[in-house]
Amino acid sequence: KQYLEESSERKRLYNENIELKGNIRVFCRCRPLSQADLANGCASVVEFDGSHENELQLLSTDSSKKHFKFDHVFKPEDGQETVFAQTKPIVTSVLDGYNVCIFAYGQTGTGKTFTMEGTPENRGVNYRTLEELFRSSESRSRLMKFELSVSMLEVYNEKIRDLLIDNSSHPPKKLEVKQSAEGTQEVLGLVEAQVFNTDEVWDLLKSGYCVRSVGSTAANEQSSRSHCLLRVTVKGENLINGQRTRSHLWLVDLAGSERVGKVEVEGERLKESQFINKSLSALGDVISALASKTSHIPYRNSKLTHMLQNSLGGDCKTLMFVQISPSSADQGETVCSLNFASRVRGIESGPARKQA
Ligand code: ADP
Repeated sequence: KQYLEESSERKRLYNENIELKGNIRVFCRCRPLSQADLANGCASVVEFDGSHENELQLLSTDSSKKHFKFDHVFKPEDGQETVFAQTKPIVTSVLDGYNVCIFAYGQTGTGKTFTMEGTPENRGVNYRTLEELFRSSESRSRLMKFELSVSMLEVYNEKIRDLLIDNSSHPPKKLEVKQSAEGTQEVLGLVEAQVFNTDEVWDLLKSGYCVRSVGSTAANEQSSRSHCLLRVTVKGENLINGQRTRSHLWLVDLAGSERVGKVEVEGERLKESQFINKSLSALGDVISALASKTSHIPYRNSKLTHMLQNSLGGDCKTLMFVQISPSSADQGETVCSLNFASRVRGIESGPARKQA
């Protein structure tokens, strides 16, 4: 009974949301002013509308205000639980057979990793999602049998690296995206670890994050310049009619979106930022091509979009967190991120239907 109630409530929420907004949603999250912002005398240039939970205003240098509207706006004081409460219906739809992609987009230091990974005391979307998937699959166990597995990978300079294998003792194995016999895009050879409880998930995530930072010369530096992806594969079996489903949920912490001045960088750093610009704009291009329903969707312009091809567009659900800083020092980057996100939000990829 609980399962049926949950299921019909989820369907109701979806139908409501889908009619209003389509399959692509954008949440904006603004971090608090940091100690450094305060020490440098930077004030907040972001204002929230008390009566509209999905709007904000950005103060420009000429004191004019620019208005933005998203599906939800999280203020600096909104905690991880508040954020997850809004995210939960989207992530749990993977149990209904939908492919889902969640992205955290924004300038370095705006809280992408905080939102997705979180901290041990303040866990983020990734861990909370797995926790919820275990809880939710348990509550449906009389009707459905679910198997959950996890993969972790990183895209750095257009190269894919598996984070669930120890790459430290030998040159990292480069993974490639190939089309499977069923016509879907698969990352060949990617480790898929089956998980049974949240403790196992936590250990796996920790080891993945560890492999990620060990592989780089300056850990924090590189992690802001690579995309980190957590993939959850859900295999479901309907115990009544034997129907099977397989779906993916991708949780993506994108590389920092900041523009790097050409005069300041050269060599390796310039190459990195060109790869980042290319893949972030490829992501924007794919989403807008889906919106305008053109016949050619340029998935192959980056490893990221190629890899996510089967989880973007069509029946799939997409959520983008645009992460921003409230600080006057970051005004230029903030307006760029908000403009990028508005372009994404303008998009409707048609009504969602349940996957077979
Ligand atoms: P990014 O991944 O975008 O580079 P981080 O997630 O590393 O940014 O965040 C930068 C710093 O700001 C971290 O110390 C993080 O804990 C803090 N931070 C970010 N967002 C929040 C928030 N909403 N509440 C509290 N602290 C935050």
